[in-house]
Amino acid sequence: MKVKGRNFVEMLSEEEIAKIIDRMASAINADLEGKNPYFLVMMNGAFIFASDLLRKITIPCGLAFVRYSSYEGMKTTGKVVPVIPVPADVKGRNVVIIEDIVDTGITMEAFLKELKNFSPESVRIASFLTKPEARQREVLVDYVGKEIENKFVLGYGLDYDGLGRNIPSLLVLDESTQ
Ligand code: 5GP
Repeated sequence: MKVKGRNFVEMLSEEEIAKIIDRMASAINADLEGKNPYFLVMMNGAFIFASDLLRKITIPCGLAFVRYSSYEGMKTTGKVVPVIPVPADVKGRNVVIIEDIVDTGITMEAFLKELKNFSPESVRIASFLTKPEARQREVLVDYVGKEIENKFVLGYGLDYDGLGRNIPSLLVLDESTQ
């Protein structure tokens, strides 16, 4: 499939994604039974993953959306500014952050620092994808959908220059044809 002149090929089909979601949800349901978790969905990229995952969560839980943007020089400072901030009622709760992908880890490290100010009881991370080779910050991801190579992916909520979030499967940039 071509998006903005770049060629992308399928990495995960809708069926494969559904299996990953089932596995992640089962682990979260088992680990957080009786803990009334509070899910924080990182907008925008995680919205499709979150909507699939959360519908497989069978234990009582809370949910909110957060959106943080990086400001100039973020790559070096690792600071984030709130667009939709963490709600104050996460205080004392067992938080599960729902993220699309942890790449360098800079965004997640900065967000974890921010989240600490809101005094949650515990914090876990559920990320659909992780790119271990790209990691520049040590970030422990508790629930990983799939570890991928250091290549650009698109679809299932993730965009390329504003396009492709609606693609239901996960695509990867086909470097051989660029
Ligand atoms: P990090 O701070 O970990 O480097 O970056 C995390 C954010 O970068 C993700 O939430 C995502 O929005 C974006 N990102 C990282 N890798 C990819 C990728 O391969 N494809 C897309 N579409 N976004 C990515």
